[in-house]
Amino acid sequence: MKRKRKKPNNKIDTSFIQENSFEITVLVMFLLGVFLLVENIEISATLFKIIKDSIFFFADFIKVIRDSIYYLLDWFELSDLVGVVLIFFALYLILIRTRIRLLAKYPKVYECPNCDNTNKLKRVQKKLKHRIIQFVLRLRIYYYQCDNCFNKQLTMVTKKR
Ligand SMILES: [Zn+2]
Repeated sequence: MKRKRKKPNNKIDTSFIQENSFEITVLVMFLLGVFLLVENIEISATLFKIIKDSIFFFADFIKVIRDSIYYLLDWFELSDLVGVVLIFFALYLILIRTRIRLLAKYPKVYECPNCDNTNKLKRVQKKLKHRIIQFVLRLRIYYYQCDNCFNKQLTMVTKKR
């Protein structure tokens, strides 16, 4: 029963579409146009909102940074700032001086200075303090041990640039 009812219905629908294909096409085009217009407005509105929100967020972010800088400046007086700069500069000078002294004290060696062993020195693992000095003073440190007298020898050179 259902099949019989469906078939004529389909036929009627198909013939209706065929007869009014032009009107239907125009209607679909019209609706699509309206839809696109409305949609575009909504999309642009959403985009505008996102842009506006991000600009406001950015402005707030800058305000927070500015306020914290003001706060820091209030907290830090100019004399304090000068003091901090002086301390850091003094530390920097001490580091440079230490670096020069270490470089002079531990020159590059090829033979053991303890015994006159002409055998090449064997490299051994550096200690943690050597690694720290190497990092802080930007030096290259080699730690050697003599095969003959087992005397350990430190060598410091500047890093190649
Ligand atoms: Zn030796």
